[in-house]
Amino acid sequence: MIIARPWMAWIAFVFVALLAAAGPAAAAADVIELSPGTGELALSPHVTYLHDTDGRDTVQDAWARVGTDAFAPLPGGNPAFGFQDGAFWVHARVVNRDPDEPRWLLVQTYPLSDHLDLYLRYPDGRVVHHAGGDTLPFGQRAIRYRHPNFLLDLPDGQPVDILLRVQSQSSMQLPLVLYTPGAFTELSRDAQFAIGLYYGILVALFFYNLVLWLVLRDASYFWYLFHIGAFGLVLFCLNGLGFEYLWPDNTWLADKSVPLSISLALIGMHQFARVFLGLHERWPLGNRVSIVAIAAFVCFGIAAVFVPYRLITPAVSLAVLASIVWITVASIDSVRKRYAPARLFLLSWAMFLAGTAVFTLVAFGMIPKTFFTEYGVQLGSALEMLFLSVALSYRYAALRNENGRIVREANVRLEREVAERTQELRGTLEQLEQAHARLHESSRLDGLTGLCNRSHFHDAFERLLLECNAERRPLSLLMVDLDHFKSINDAHGHLVGDDVLRAAAQRIGTALRPHEALLARFGGEEFVIVLPRTDLHGAVAVAEAVRRAIAAAPCDSQHGPPVRVSASVGVHTVVPGTVDDIEDALQVADQALYAAKANGRDCVRTSISAA
Ligand code: GH3
Ligand code: MG
Ligand code: MG
Repeated sequence: MIIARPWMAWIAFVFVALLAAAGPAAAAADVIELSPGTGELALSPHVTYLHDTDGRDTVQDAWARVGTDAFAPLPGGNPAFGFQDGAFWVHARVVNRDPDEPRWLLVQTYPLSDHLDLYLRYPDGRVVHHAGGDTLPFGQRAIRYRHPNFLLDLPDGQPVDILLRVQSQSSMQLPLVLYTPGAFTELSRDAQFAIGLYYGILVALFFYNLVLWLVLRDASYFWYLFHIGAFGLVLFCLNGLGFEYLWPDNTWLADKSVPLSISLALIGMHQFARVFLGLHERWPLGNRVSIVAIAAFVCFGIAAVFVPYRLITPAVSLAVLASIVWITVASIDSVRKRYAPARLFLLSWAMFLAGTAVFTLVAFGMIPKTFFTEYGVQLGSALEMLFLSVALSYRYAALRNENGRIVREANVRLEREVAERTQELRGTLEQLEQAHARLHESSRLDGLTGLCNRSHFHDAFERLLLECNAERRPLSLLMVDLDHFKSINDAHGHLVGDDVLRAAAQRIGTALRPHEALLARFGGEEFVIVLPRTDLHGAVAVAEAVRRAIAAAPCDSQHGPPVRVSASVGVHTVVPGTVDDIEDALQVADQALYAAKANGRDCVRTSISAA
């Protein structure tokens, strides 16, 4: 039992928010004197108790054992026993020595006991019975106060035996305090102020974050609201305020509210931590652990409705302790993974743990009970909620900055890629243009001789003809045909013939260099020359020069011996304004060429001479 007590006390700490400080151990006095000016007296050091393990003792049985060894002082003066079977009987004998205070208030400063039966025995043998506990409607209390309380008539100088029977599914807590009505008013002032301050902070944070959630629609805000709402509800129930304000007539709910609200709070706490720390991405295994924990508390919540309080509570309490450790581990892991918002989360969490630690130390009597230490849980959790709210804003800002950074980086990358693609495209376009130019060039050139081909010649000739007509200047046309070329092919082969064709083309080109001339291969071994702004006389001179250049020397060939070749030339001069159809002009020039052939070849003939 003694070994088990720290464990029980831990459970008590989870469930009891306003546990009275353990008083110093003292022997139970026979008679408690209520001297004038006392105001407030904690009964724990002075009472004796009896544990009726099966809860069957009647009040007569208990009275019979008062004053015997069956009633013992509270162990170490500590009124907390944890979860217990049966009923506890507490006895005290008081004498009121203050004639001005005939009425006193007995308060059990623990709100969750189920059944309280108080018996007062006066010197004349009269016994008065009061019933209390949260199985009775709230309105039946002597004073509408969150802790069970009884108004006692304590006549001046008369010893009165107080016998209290407590039976409860919840933790067995017997902190009893006697107050004069005035002292009680003073005390409740402080407590109400602390509680009001605490819930004020919680409500303000709740609505502030509610607005943020409505605006931002970030899931972590929702789970923060859930967490703060449920946690506030837990303390509300533990303080006895749920029964006082929310369901004063619902004793069933008064009984179930603690495990139910604890389950809700832990669901909210795990889910909030999971979402806030982003366990899904940062620690998938941890994420699964949190989901299992949430599922466990959903089950606890459902079970709390059906399973008796005292069966479910130890399991829930252990799960709460495991959850506290787990959330600490998860947040430390996130901090180690350099997730910046987790640092604020851990700080908030540390506030809460420090608050509960201070409260526990007070409960064990290890540090003095002051306003701040007594309300350690409230103070710690208020600071936790405040810091979490700051952490949420920080996290939101961090997420937004991160998103901004990602968008900026994506834009830079996109711009770089677009620039690269544009560059590539530009290169490709240039290559395409070059290819197109080459294609265009090759399409207008003859493959063998490198001269203009016939189709390009047509276009160029047409342009020149228009120009000369416009300028009213003559234009001459020379048709050059190699003589007996067939026999060169026949005698030396086509390759030699090709070489001769190339050589002839080159010689014509050289002969034309001093002149503004358009030279093209007209087909086969036939060439055509246009001499713009050249009259017949000039044209004949050029034709002669061309003819002489061709026949000047044998043409070298890579495929055979040098070959002599000559050419006949037909000349036709277009007089401005007479002809504008190039086919006609060509035909006339051809006739002149024909005349040159007919005239024995290797000579020049004009269209005029031909006619
Ligand atoms: P003429 O003096 O009457 O012009 O007689 P010719 O043999 O030169 O004229 P003809 O029209 O009978 O023959 C032209 C020959 O030119 C026929 C053809 O094989 C040859 N020829 C045409 N184009 C080419 C070519 O690109 N390469 C070679 N090697 N021969 C060609
Ligand atoms: Mg020929
Ligand atoms: Mg020919």
